[in-house]
Amino acid sequence: MTSNRCDFLTGAASMAGAAMTPSHSHEHGHSHDHEHQAVPSDPALRVKALESLLVEKGLVDRSTLDTLIDAYETKIGPRNGARVVARAWTDLAYKQRLLADADVAIGELGYGGMQGEHMVVLENTPKVHNLVVCTLCSCYPWPVLGLPPVWYKSAPYRSRAVIDPRGILREFGLQLPDDAEVRVWDSTAEIRYLVLPERPAGTEHLTEDELATLVTRDSMIGVTNVSFPAKAATK
Ligand code: FE
Repeated sequence: MTSNRCDFLTGAASMAGAAMTPSHSHEHGHSHDHEHQAVPSDPALRVKALESLLVEKGLVDRSTLDTLIDAYETKIGPRNGARVVARAWTDLAYKQRLLADADVAIGELGYGGMQGEHMVVLENTPKVHNLVVCTLCSCYPWPVLGLPPVWYKSAPYRSRAVIDPRGILREFGLQLPDDAEVRVWDSTAEIRYLVLPERPAGTEHLTEDELATLVTRDSMIGVTNVSFPAKAATK
């Protein structure tokens, strides 16, 4: 009895294994053309089901989705934000408009749209340093910074930016003076932030285009400052 039960369990297990294997051979005497595949993970299945449903209902067009993803992955990136910052550094009136109504001022340079509809620009000064996080998920200003870096979406950054912002900044190589205040801003689906870093000393002779090349993505999230000469040029 025990061995029968054992045989049964062994048989059942191998059948179940076979059903989940991509290419098992059928030993019985007929062939059929349906596929036996490894079962995808739960979230992957849900995403696939959701995608199929949205496409089927005509709510989403696959090629439009691909175009959008390609645009934000390869065409729109932090260079847009860098141009906004460089303009603000060289044009006081623009900077004032940027701080008063970021959407309009960013729109003046031709940037805007999805995931950047309600922007707020935060100005760093010698006494105030701004740091941006999304504690809930990964809200980020796509039109000016592109897609968020992996660390921005990570749980440790999302929690530690709030609990220990100075510690996070130190890890990014930024040691703030003790008397500087750190302000942490939590992005949401409604409001996205862009940090306006301080213009580094010694850049008075640079043009707007040259200044834009100094501005890094990380400085516009607030985890670093802009340095001159650019960090890459120093050891
Ligand atoms: Fe978010």
